[in-house]
Amino acid sequence: MFMQSDDPMVDIMERAIRGAPISRDEIVYLYNEVDINKLGYAARIITEKLTGRQVSFVSNMIFNYTNICNVRCKFCAFYRTGTESDAYTLTSQQVVDRVRHFHELYGIRQLLIQGGVNPDLLLSYYTELFKHIKQQIPEIGINGLSTSEISFIARKEKMSIEKTLTALRESGLDTIPGAGAEIFDDEVRKVLRRPPKSGEQWLNVMETAHKMGIKTSATMMFGHVENAYHKADHLLALVELQKKYNGFLSFTPWNFEPGNTELEKEGLVSGRVGGQEVLRNIAISRIVLNRHLPIIQSSWLTNGVQMGQMAIFYGANDWGGTIYDEKVIPATGKMVGNLRKETIIRAVKEIGMVPVERDNSYRIVRTYI
Ligand code: SF4
Repeated sequence: MFMQSDDPMVDIMERAIRGAPISRDEIVYLYNEVDINKLGYAARIITEKLTGRQVSFVSNMIFNYTNICNVRCKFCAFYRTGTESDAYTLTSQQVVDRVRHFHELYGIRQLLIQGGVNPDLLLSYYTELFKHIKQQIPEIGINGLSTSEISFIARKEKMSIEKTLTALRESGLDTIPGAGAEIFDDEVRKVLRRPPKSGEQWLNVMETAHKMGIKTSATMMFGHVENAYHKADHLLALVELQKKYNGFLSFTPWNFEPGNTELEKEGLVSGRVGGQEVLRNIAISRIVLNRHLPIIQSSWLTNGVQMGQMAIFYGANDWGGTIYDEKVIPATGKMVGNLRKETIIRAVKEIGMVPVERDNSYRIVRTYI
């Protein structure tokens, strides 16, 4: 435990370790003033109390069914307007063929499927797609569509979010990923060129899903134009929603990748943040979310295996997935490979932790002693 001291950090950390709430100003203080190793120390103690030395992972595949998008965020290098030679939208048969291929090779348990907000696609495209996947591979969990895609489908079909989610769930959607949260603050979102009120919209879609019993994930994108107050408000908004329905399964803080994005071209962001910032964000997320959101995922996809290992010591307890067909990060120019589950198991054991394989709903299916 921390030594007696007049340092405000000691009081904040003691309360965090007890699971007491941390205020907005205190979170900002943690971001701006506190040494990274002290944050990591407290974050790891909290994690040990929640899930011990277990580090979960899932055999999964991330799949992007279309890159055509009418939102055109300035931080995104993936989208196409539809006229470019590399713009694409896959048929449900093409999606199923590809998923089945990876399922046969690697036994994936989760399909994370999302794309751009493609104005040509109707609700029936998604319901047929999900039905088709479930008919062919019934054991796979479909973690699908961002809140932007869901909101657009609802608007296009003149349906409520609830009715849209009902149709998607009946056709096979199991859970909803946390994409699109970025930073909720409207001023930040204006710079990112997210539509006005889209932060509020993200929270509303998630709340509707949670009320209906659909579990979802949450995210935060940092390392662009945000400040510590924006991140504090973002984390506290997640805690408030989680207290209502306990609908979030996990939280992933991920760092912005600037390559090939308008934010970088316009000079609004000079480069990607370093490892210290990544670890600081993981540790503070753990301290603030605490028992409300016990699973924090490290993003090896953007930071590599070694940073994935470090993140475990700063409060993460989920490795994420194996990922076999992701296209959003490579669009920034950053090359990422796939990880076999054997590599994840080895990486987790190497740091003295216990790898546990989970399914799409975070149920543990196997422990690797
Ligand atoms: S981040 Fe998503 S919504 Fe924004 S432009 Fe890229 S694909 Fe479209």
